[in-house]
Amino acid sequence: MKVIERTVSNAFGRWMHRRDWRGVCIVLPRICVVLYWTLPGVPVAVTTKRHELKHVDQAERYGFLGFWKRYLTQLWKNGYYLNELELEAQDAETEIRHLRSVS
Ligand SMILES: [Zn+2]
Repeated sequence: MKVIERTVSNAFGRWMHRRDWRGVCIVLPRICVVLYWTLPGVPVAVTTKRHELKHVDQAERYGFLGFWKRYLTQLWKNGYYLNELELEAQDAETEIRHLRSVS
């Protein structure tokens, strides 16, 4: 799986950031494009990076079609925040926070 990560701090990236959206993982066949919505000069939080890269893990686990079938089914049934793939990504963020707080 090829992964391309880019920060976006243009007007749209700042607009997304102000609305508490920190990134998106666009799963395509054999490639994931991860965009991080940032403010200029502000580094991407490790928790955000971990969240989006968990979606890359999921894309590798389920494949392109399997990922989208699961993601969209979950979105339809449970919405965004209770989507099992989002919950797993949030758990990955929590693990990072815990590791950082005990080190
Ligand atoms: Zn997510």
